[in-house]
Amino acid sequence: MDSITSIFREKKLKLTPQRIAVYKYLQSTKEHPSAEIIYKALQEDYPTMSLATVYKALKTLVEVNLVIELNVGEGNFRYDSNISSHPHIQCISCGRVDDIENVPFSDLNMRVTEFTDYEVLTNRVYFYGLCKCCRDKVNTLKTK
Ligand SMILES: [Zn+2]
Ligand SMILES: [Zn+2]
Repeated sequence: MDSITSIFREKKLKLTPQRIAVYKYLQSTKEHPSAEIIYKALQEDYPTMSLATVYKALKTLVEVNLVIELNVGEGNFRYDSNISSHPHIQCISCGRVDDIENVPFSDLNMRVTEFTDYEVLTNRVYFYGLCKCCRDKVNTLKTK
């Protein structure tokens, strides 16, 4: 809680309970939730908070770079409070989004710089596949 307070102060953000709740929730999960999922998760503790308020809080948090908005396609926005540059993988069947860890991507910017006239500053890399859970489902269907 203390750290959120000081982070918000540093960003000159007003400490509204809604913003704190949304940010805290994002920090507590690695699941890259959508605004709707955040809204539903906070319903119990913040029954008066509307979906529009969640969207507004997210927009503010994205603007000050505390949260990353991931556009994983088809207007499907997910949110991540891990703002370090890291690639993501999404399941094309159930839509879950995971971080890709322990794969070195740091030289990708350099390599792209070599082949373009750009000085590459950052990148957003998305992979798509089938998660284990969905693969297992397909496999059990096959064996039936
Ligand atoms: Zn899946
Ligand atoms: Zn992530």
